[in-house]
Order: sequence, then structure tokens, then C-alpha cells
Amino acid sequence: MAQTKYLLSEDRIPTSWYNVAADLQTPPPPPLHPGTLQPAGPEDLAPLFPMGLIAQEVSTERLIEIPDEVREIYRLWRPTPLIRARRWEKALGTPAKIYFKYEGSSPAGSHKVNSSVPQAWYNKQEGITKLTTETGAGQWGSALSMACSMFGMECLVYMVKVSYFQKPYRRSMMRLFGANVIPSPSDTTDAGRHILSQDPDSPGTLGIAISEAVEVAAKNDDTHYALGSVLNHVVLHQTVIGQEAIEQMELVGSYPDYVVGCVGGGTNFGGIAMPFVGQNIKYGKKTRIIAVEPAACPSMTKGVYAYDFGDTAKMTPLLKMHTLGHDFVPAGIHAGGLRYHGMSPLVSHVYDQGLIEARAVMQNDVFGAAVSFARAEAIVPAPESSHALAAVVELAEECKQSGDEKTILFNLSGHGHFDMAAYDNYLDGKLEDYAYPEEKIKESMKNLPKI
Ligand SMILES: *Cc1c(COP(=O)(O)O)cnc(C)c1O
Repeated sequence: MAQTKYLLSEDRIPTSWYNVAADLQTPPPPPLHPGTLQPAGPEDLAPLFPMGLIAQEVSTERLIEIPDEVREIYRLWRPTPLIRARRWEKALGTPAKIYFKYEGSSPAGSHKVNSSVPQAWYNKQEGITKLTTETGAGQWGSALSMACSMFGMECLVYMVKVSYFQKPYRRSMMRLFGANVIPSPSDTTDAGRHILSQDPDSPGTLGIAISEAVEVAAKNDDTHYALGSVLNHVVLHQTVIGQEAIEQMELVGSYPDYVVGCVGGGTNFGGIAMPFVGQNIKYGKKTRIIAVEPAACPSMTKGVYAYDFGDTAKMTPLLKMHTLGHDFVPAGIHAGGLRYHGMSPLVSHVYDQGLIEARAVMQNDVFGAAVSFARAEAIVPAPESSHALAAVVELAEECKQSGDEKTILFNLSGHGHFDMAAYDNYLDGKLEDYAYPEEKIKESMKNLPKI
């Protein structure tokens, strides 16, 4: 079955990242400069990102070689295991075969290190000594802190204030890896001071924290900004997940009918999905590829596909994406990593092209699926990842009704060891279901940039 091969070397770690853009009929729309509304050139992105990553952002090459030093570090936890969830299948009483790729086995506990390591590496090659970033739930902050410590770089993390106090141990982990962690909004940036002047008790949002981190990078020559989700180069780095999964499924003589992943900014999903999208396009495979989002933050199922800013202070280039509007303020659901207003332009584009599907799920179903999975498979899933689990439960139930022995593959993007407060809330029956109201979406749409 040579057709399904990506280039994995003997150690079973991919040698290249896979760029789906090379296999699409229509190229994804480019980012636009927020002032001129012309396609943003490399020089527009250069204050924030190294050229190595900017080139990847707009690349149309199919395979982009992974630098040796990055593969050496990947080797600490890659390839990640592909596991068949036999006990969970039994608990669900489904004839479906359920497999998952376990990214929670990485050092920082999620898929995010697949991108933080190459991002730090490309910056270091171009003489950058310090990276700034934002973090919501803390996973990306942990991942970037770890990567910076590997390469002897400084790391400054703006952590959404509500998470800073709710998830103190994520903060501790970042400090352990040597990072400086500041609750956002803060008085260390113009963007933060502006928000605080309007609302001194602001709990913060990812959009605000991005504005703060971007501002620091834009003002300092030795400093760049790193984003843990959304952008094409981040999706690209995550494709190690799907490439490994294709090979691992092949080793057990199987191929998925469904590929499922949760979406916040879309990168762990893109990472497992894009290699399978490529197989569908190139070899006429019929795998259904499903992105799962919270009903409280439904950018794909309820948002519009339009150019929007990536942040609240409107400093980023305009990205064409499924969005709820850059001024979206999410409800305090227990999946901090999925509370972002936008969606990866690449994931949005393949969704718009009809190459993938999307579903929204409610919080209590998410935790219900997580608990049944944990009790069967003895792994505590992250609340974010558990959105994928909730959709798998739906698919498993459909198979039960129809008697179809479908093969389902999902990405378990991270473990939930730092999310015990959320699990306590669920087990105490205190979680509320919440769907983002239609009127609020309409209101935000009025503030979209006019293109
Ligand atoms: C950050 C995070 C997500 C959401 O980000 P994506 O870019 O959509 O992958 C999902 N799961 C986990 C465990 C995360 O840390």
C-alpha cells in the first residue's frame, strides 16, 4: 500500500511536515495587511515572526523537511501511541472500532509541543533570544516555555487572568521551565492598560492577551511572538500526528471511516486531519473528517467565513476564517483552549470547500464522554480533547443503531491532569450547558472589518 506512505524514517517519526495547500484545487485566501487591505507580504509579518516560519505560512510545497535538531527533540516523545479503545468500545456497547492517537504523552501534556519546538528553533536560527506569547488554559504557555528552555531562550507569557488564578499549577510548570508569567490584562503594555482603564476587573480573554504579547514583540528587536494555534505553520507542524496515524493504522491493517478532532484554533484537528484530507483528495478515499467545537464558542457551525482580526486590539493581519467576531467574549466554559473567536484559515478553507464537516457539542455531554472514557481506558482526557470524545460517542451510538462496524480514529490532544477543578464541578453536578446566543453573534458581525 505504497500510496498511503508519507516519508517516515526508521525511527517512525515523519521526516517532513505535510502541507495540504499543495493538494487543494483552490489555494487558501492570503492574510491581508489591516491598513492597505492588500495581501500581507513577508515584510509585514517580519516584526513578529522569523522568515523560516513566514515562508511556511505561505508555502505551496507539499512536503517541508523537519530540521534534524527538531526531530531529535521530537524523539523525546514521538511517535506518540495509537491505541485501540477496546474497553471503551465495550462500555459504549458499539460495534465500531475506536482508535485514538494519544498526544497527552508529550512532556507538556498536549500536542502543542509539536509546534513550540520548531517555532523556537526557527527563531533561534535568526538570532532571536526572547519569545512572547499568550496562553489561555496554560497548555501553549507550558509548551513554549519547555521549547525555550531546550534552546536557552527567554520566554514571556501573558496568561489570561481568570486562568492565572484558576490554574495555578500550569503557571508553576511554566515558571519551572524558566518562563516569566504575567496575568493579562496587565499594566505592562498599552493594550493591557487600555482594557484596564475601561474595566479594572476584566478577567481577560485570549484576544487581549495576544494583543499584549504582540505589542511587546513589535517594540523589541530581539523579541518575536509565537502563536500556538490558528496559523498555517502551526497546522503544518501538527501534521506529524496524522502522518504517524496513517502508518500506525496501516501496521494494524486498518484505515478510518471517521477522523475526529476537537477545534479551538484548529491545529490539533488540522494535524490529524490534513494528511487524511490529502488521502481523500489524491486517492479517492472516503473518510469523513469531523471537527468538534463547543456550542458555547461555535465559530464553524454558527460563525461566518470572513476576513477578521486575530486579536481584540486589531493589531494582527486580517485572516479569512470562520469567526464569531474579534470582540467575542466567551462564556467561562471549562475548555479554556477552545475559547477563541476564530478558526485556522486553512481549516476554515477546507471546511468551505466541503472537505471536512463540523459539529458543536454541549459541555455536560463532553464531560460525560470524558468520564466514561477515563473509567474504561484509565486516561484522564483534557476537557478540550473531550469534545472529540463527545462526537465519538454520537458516532458509536449511530453504529450501534445501524449495526455498522465502522472504524473511528480520534485525536486525544492532551491529558487533563491540571483540570481537576473542572472535573469536580462536573461530578458535583454544577456544570451548566450553554449555547452562544444568535443575537450576540449578529451584534459582533457588525464590527467585522469591511472588505
Ligand atoms: C490548545 C489545545 C486545544 C485547542 O487548540 P487547537 O489549535 O484547536 O488544537 C485542544 N486540545 C488541547 C489539549 C489543547 O491544549
